[in-house]
Amino acid sequence: MKKKVLAVLLGGCMVVGMLAGCAEKCTCPSHDRCHQKGELVMDVIKIRDLEIYGHHGVMKEENVLGQKFLVSLALYTDTRAAGESDNLADSVNYAEVSYLVKEQMEKETYRLIEAAAEQLAKKILLKFPLVKKVEVEIKKPWAPILLPLDTVSVSITRGWETAYLSIGSNMGDRKAYLEAAIEELKKVETIREIKVSEIIETEPYGYTDQDKFLNAAIGFETLLTPDALLSVCHEIEKKGKRERKIHWGPRTIDLDILLYGDCVMHTETLTIPHSEMHKRQFVLEPLSEIAPYVKHPVLGKSVSMLLEDLEEHK
Ligand code: ATP
Ligand code: CA
Ligand code: CA
Repeated sequence: MKKKVLAVLLGGCMVVGMLAGCAEKCTCPSHDRCHQKGELVMDVIKIRDLEIYGHHGVMKEENVLGQKFLVSLALYTDTRAAGESDNLADSVNYAEVSYLVKEQMEKETYRLIEAAAEQLAKKILLKFPLVKKVEVEIKKPWAPILLPLDTVSVSITRGWETAYLSIGSNMGDRKAYLEAAIEELKKVETIREIKVSEIIETEPYGYTDQDKFLNAAIGFETLLTPDALLSVCHEIEKKGKRERKIHWGPRTIDLDILLYGDCVMHTETLTIPHSEMHKRQFVLEPLSEIAPYVKHPVLGKSVSMLLEDLEEHK
């Protein structure tokens, strides 16, 4: 793949990153290797060519008559506990996964196998918490295109990613706004294992003629893409009656995405890692409480090292 050099402007310091593909797109290298909870190697359970009769397709006849589909899965998980205990309860039950696939593929009617694969991946990741990442391949051996072909297929990989947010408030009942935002995050089905730091009170940053802030950091695992996570943040801000009048001015609630796995991205609407995070004590202090050893993917330093650097240069 053609490589492009993307210059990511990180708060004044120009960091040049080699990103594969389009500079506008998130490369999210962490989607390809699991680094969750310090696990270095992921084991895999494979299900190959599970045969299902379903009614998916763009053509009406396909929805009425149905056809054969072959579903293959690679379930990335840590099998070590099951390997030691020899107990199925410690692993992913591939029979249950297979029946879930069968039920879903027979019950629903999708026009596209892309949609069938997307929904299968999501269902599996939500129902089987030990599965960190899943590859879903759906083959269509009888694709009706009036040409001889072996199979047409779609293959996707989806997984849980670790993300960190910074939240802040300096208007009204500040604590209640922070707590309401955390409650809203808890309601999102595709967010799990939420960790919240202590709430700290901090002096305003940038525009200093305003009240003190309450700040905290939040970490969780999510199936949301970075853009979808930003939309969730904006929705929560809307519910918290957030208004944007002065840049860095007073706000009821602000949610910023700090880190998203090893993702490095820069678009018109989203920069990850957050471009100012390494300069902000009110961000690094709570973040270092819940994620001291998590590494900034551009600066190459852990959160606690970034905090030390900042305190030294105060
Ligand atoms: P700062 O981002 O410097 O803390 P702010 O939080 O006051 O400033 P906002 O007015 O809340 O800024 O956000 C302006 C826009 O920043 C958002 O609408 C969003 O599109 C964009 N943005 C870019 N990167 C991020 C990120 N990592 N997290 C949240 N918003 C981001
Ligand atoms: Ca902010
Ligand atoms: Ca913001």
